[in-house]
Amino acid sequence: MSLKESPISEAYLSDLLEPAMPIGSLIDWTQFANCKGKTKLFFAPKAERPQARARREAKAKSLCANCTVQQTCKEFARNNHEYGLWGGENEEERHLAGYTMAAPIGVRSRTLKSA
Ligand code: SF4
Repeated sequence: MSLKESPISEAYLSDLLEPAMPIGSLIDWTQFANCKGKTKLFFAPKAERPQARARREAKAKSLCANCTVQQTCKEFARNNHEYGLWGGENEEERHLAGYTMAAPIGVRSRTLKSA
């Protein structure tokens, strides 16, 4: 029996042969993160002063610069409106790239209110 005579449609066969998601999306990229165990560097503590923030973010960004999943991480944060520093980008930098947070806090919140 040929495929044309088969009761199985070509669309069904195509679905069987094509995975629903790309294989890459099934791999947990966070297992390759350079920042494992260093979460405090990536999120601002309460009442952090600007100079301390700059020092903390510089250390975090140096880890991101050598991270093999930086681009994936950055895209994840942009698409999920994350807080903190992801993929070498802080909240302000994500905002300037066009990825606004749903509920901005701190400096970003004050900036939006005064605009
Ligand atoms: S890019 Fe930075 S924040 Fe993202 S996983 Fe790597 S080290 Fe962590």
